[in-house]
Amino acid sequence: MSVPRIGIGTDVHRLVEGRPLWVAGLHWPDAPRGLEGHSDGDCVAHAMVDAVLTAAGLGDIGSRFGTADPRYAGAPGLEFLRGTAELVRESGQSIGNVSVQLIGNEPRLSGRRDEATAVLSDAIGAPVSLSGTTTDGLGLTGRGEGIAAVAVALVLA
Ligand code: MG
Repeated sequence: MSVPRIGIGTDVHRLVEGRPLWVAGLHWPDAPRGLEGHSDGDCVAHAMVDAVLTAAGLGDIGSRFGTADPRYAGAPGLEFLRGTAELVRESGQSIGNVSVQLIGNEPRLSGRRDEATAVLSDAIGAPVSLSGTTTDGLGLTGRGEGIAAVAVALVLA
């Protein structure tokens, strides 16, 4: 009998000039700023990775895809999701689903939610649901300093 295990992940990256915006597995060509990071800074993908890895008891994004590893410089968030799915499979577990929320003023998900959900689900190999919210102008996301994400995942051990 498989045992369900949940995990949580959060991530934040700073918005800076001169970087393309990659978030929720998509490029947002009209965005004036992008997310800073060793990788592409996709906080939605990174929060999902931590949620899945912790649910599976397989460490966290820092221990699996660390910034000290030059292979991951500029790496797309989708690559981390695919690698995470592989680690879970190798451990004999499976991913039930992942729910992830983007917290920030930009980008507006509504027009591309289905596209983002499809790309993220394909990469992690399980159903993904994606929501977006703002913080009513408060805090680092409200001031537009960055974008945050929080995710929960269900893994069947
Ligand atoms: Mg990150």
